[in-house]
Amino acid sequence: MLPDLHLNDHLRLRKPHPCGSYEWKVVRLGADIGLECKGCQHRVMLTRRELAKRMKTNLTQLEREKNSEESNSSPTVL
Ligand SMILES: [Zn+2]
Repeated sequence: MLPDLHLNDHLRLRKPHPCGSYEWKVVRLGADIGLECKGCQHRVMLTRRELAKRMKTNLTQLEREKNSEESNSSPTVL
């Protein structure tokens, strides 16, 4: 199954786009997932299944996990 995915998440895929960028932004969530290349703004639609195969890392999810660990250890009042 596909890990947690949100609009505007930044994903790193296993293979680079022809423009050279590995990073994509989630621009549409649904039965299919819309991604925008961060290198050239090209947009593609992938099924969740395809994306699960091609995705290497969800950079935004990593940030969220890192932040929640930090806030667990030292709660911050904003
Ligand atoms: Zn590109």
